[in-house]
Amino acid sequence: MPPRGPYPEKELIALGIIRKPHGIRGEASVEPWTDSVERFSELTDVLLVSPGESEKKPAKIDSVRPHGERVLVRFSGIETPEALADFQNWTIEIPMSEARALEGGEYFLHDLADLEVRDSAGRLIGQTTEVNEGGGGILLAVRRPDGKTFDLPFVADFCKTVDLDAGKLIVDLPAGLENLDQAASAESKKESPSDDPAPVPHPLESESSTGPRLHFDVVTIFPNLFDSFLQEGIIGRALRNGRISVRIWDLRDFTSDRHRSTDDEAYGGGAGMVMLAEPVFACVDAIRAGKNDAETRTILTSPQGARFDQAAAERLSRRASITILCGRYEGFDERIREALVDEELSIGDFVVSGGELPAMVMMDAVSRFIDGVVGDRNSVVADSFYNGLLDYPHYTRPAEFRGMQVPEVLISGHAEKIRKWRKEQSLKATLRKRPDLLERASLDSEAERMLKEIRSEDLDRKR
Ligand code: SAH
Repeated sequence: MPPRGPYPEKELIALGIIRKPHGIRGEASVEPWTDSVERFSELTDVLLVSPGESEKKPAKIDSVRPHGERVLVRFSGIETPEALADFQNWTIEIPMSEARALEGGEYFLHDLADLEVRDSAGRLIGQTTEVNEGGGGILLAVRRPDGKTFDLPFVADFCKTVDLDAGKLIVDLPAGLENLDQAASAESKKESPSDDPAPVPHPLESESSTGPRLHFDVVTIFPNLFDSFLQEGIIGRALRNGRISVRIWDLRDFTSDRHRSTDDEAYGGGAGMVMLAEPVFACVDAIRAGKNDAETRTILTSPQGARFDQAAAERLSRRASITILCGRYEGFDERIREALVDEELSIGDFVVSGGELPAMVMMDAVSRFIDGVVGDRNSVVADSFYNGLLDYPHYTRPAEFRGMQVPEVLISGHAEKIRKWRKEQSLKATLRKRPDLLERASLDSEAERMLKEIRSEDLDRKR
């Protein structure tokens, strides 16, 4: 397969996208497509590129400051919210040559394709042909001189030096790695969208700056359902900056019959079809090949499972890799649950037609607990359920909207009062909407006091 995506021909690289004007001081709220905000501070001259790339405008960056998941950027000459509005959804780009110099130890995915691979003694091992995300990180497909291909994990242990100018990758391979043919990856057609021009931190450079990452393997007969989910928002960004990796496995690639069937009639009769054991076992075998069993967890999506909740999301986020099986029709042949599955999980007491939406729900909720996925860790900690309580109410501009005011205290700028108000509101919301949660929540003495007051207020109101 040739390198995917338009990037090899493109000499510009996008670092982020202007989402909207921020505030009244002429700053642009920019969604970064790179993992480190410092990159923006090092830049002055950039190119703004319109959606569809029909227009390109040179611009100068005046100032940059982080703002939650976004970066606030001020461009000289584009200094009012009105002027900025014209640049909504324009991307901020720089020439690729500059990006390389700028990023030192980081590479764009496509840079890693087409390198000559040699060991430190100079022996030719092969040529990289493809860059994929899978097996817990970046995998380079390396074609040996005899034409066979093997997967080389792009990790510091194996990949010692990347010399882009010379087009060389110097490796130190464990015995036997190059003789492992690319069985699984050749069979699976669908990979995560790795044709994204986002930089990949070199493992040598990035180990200290990054915490544990998480890899998802998802087994489905509808791989396309995951496309936009994996490109947009927090999940898209987490993939681009390597905090999570995802591989979607098309179950049909593991069928052995001419019709590529994944289901059959139920023994004992009845209307619905049942997912066949054989392809699921074959696919899970391929996923597990080369993985440490203790680190991965295999999940069956099912309305009969234990309820997937915030605690389950947090618990699963501590694994190195998670495999999610998505059912269709009446569900899976029971032997799959018995032999392959660590946990059966449900997203609620209702039935949806397939495990893909539940898988996306779980991947999203789990990923939020991975360091660096949600820009501001505080916002995860404040989210509903984290402390056993519901979140407090949020407001944004304008301060008055259709006669409705934002609570005075939030505008006061008085940090301690705001903290107390939010805590009180959290308790109020929980007591009034989900009193069952309070029975399990562990409250500090301040919260206990507040709760007492709220309860007596509520009593007074009823009288
Ligand atoms: N006959 C099954 C339901 C099958 S629904 C039963 O009653 O138990 C088809 C598939 O959708 C399931 O295999 C599962 O993968 C997924 N699914 C449906 N509802 C779900 C839920 N609440 N949580 C998680 N997965 C669900």
